[in-house]
Amino acid sequence: MKVLVINCGSSSLKYQVFDMDAEKALAKGIAERIGIDNSIIKHETSEGKKTVIHEILPDHESALELMLEALVSPKHGVFKKIEEINAVGHRVAHGGPYFSSSILITKEVKDKIRHLFELAPLHNPPNLVGIEAMERLLPGIEQVAVFDTAFHQTMPKYAYLYGLPYEFYEKYKIRKYGFHGTSHKYVAQRAGELLGRPWESLKIISCHLGNGASITAIKDGISLENTMGFTPLEGLIMGTRSGDIDPAIVSYIMEKENLNIEEMSDLLNKQSGVLGISGISSDFRDLEDAGLQGNERARLAIEMFVHDVKLHIGAYTAILEGLDVLIFTAGLGENGIDIRKMVCTEMDTLGIIIDEEKNKIRGKEAEISQEGAKTKVLVIPTNEELMIARDTKNIVLTR
Ligand code: ADP
Repeated sequence: MKVLVINCGSSSLKYQVFDMDAEKALAKGIAERIGIDNSIIKHETSEGKKTVIHEILPDHESALELMLEALVSPKHGVFKKIEEINAVGHRVAHGGPYFSSSILITKEVKDKIRHLFELAPLHNPPNLVGIEAMERLLPGIEQVAVFDTAFHQTMPKYAYLYGLPYEFYEKYKIRKYGFHGTSHKYVAQRAGELLGRPWESLKIISCHLGNGASITAIKDGISLENTMGFTPLEGLIMGTRSGDIDPAIVSYIMEKENLNIEEMSDLLNKQSGVLGISGISSDFRDLEDAGLQGNERARLAIEMFVHDVKLHIGAYTAILEGLDVLIFTAGLGENGIDIRKMVCTEMDTLGIIIDEEKNKIRGKEAEISQEGAKTKVLVIPTNEELMIARDTKNIVLTR
């Protein structure tokens, strides 16, 4: 079975095609600057055939059309005809309270995704655009929605409610949803495979550390807590997002700086985080370089991030009543040798002791804990696309 996985962002679109009989990626690509000038599509097959397409992409549908052309191109395609694609899986950011697992896309499912635009204004609209464009381009093809929030729907009510008047939960569904669920579930399952134990038997903390960063507590194969909340702004300090702050700060700054809602939201989402603290970059590579050259605020930004990660590992160990496995994933988790070392320093009370030599790896699966340490520390590159392809295959085959 061949599955096409699509992740539609506001001005970009990532895709990957899998042969799910062998769980093998065949091709992938990214379209960028959709609806802006200088649009571009970069496409490559797993055999290394690459092409770059410079064409005007007024909308997502035109990008998807070119993607399909690339996939059947005699030069750098992977199919003879497009009908070889059996199903399409879509990443959908927000499933709200409606979806606790992936689902075959129907009119009702689309209506609910639309209903959730309010909760995820940057993500759900382009996700739905991608779904509807594929319906037109490949009529009759079965499509599956895989939600970032679904894995966290198991959080207990006392964990997901905020201390606000209860009617705001009832009226507006204001609660913690949690994000990066597909990634957290993938690495947790993979940890079980690597350790040769059922993942449902392990107490796991998974740290998805990228531009957006979140941590999840997993026990009995379900998510008990995630640092992100009603939106992906809550939790850890991130590349450009503030993470947790005292909510009273919001109205205080708005008043002092005379900011409207949009400007305040922009400040919290795009100008804060380690970028805001360091004043130089949201990228940890830049911060590490600047820190080495003596930039105090770059160092401070890294220290704040590390402090936040440690804080949540401690809290989540309490919730899990112990810790068997700590996982690092996503750009920084997979590649940030120094960050991993800093997070794991002086954590032996939680059984976390890493082997500095084993820790010197980037972008590949490895156990980095010291021989005999109580908690296994693993680096596991995430693969959200494969998870989406798996769910798509399972749902289409068992419907
Ligand atoms: P997202 O998918 O949320 O945009 P990624 O998972 O791609 O983010 O992670 C991007 C981040 O990973 C970058 O901001 C950078 O800080 C970090 N990163 C990537 N490679 C390295 C590296 N070699 N060393 C340190 N940090 C890295």
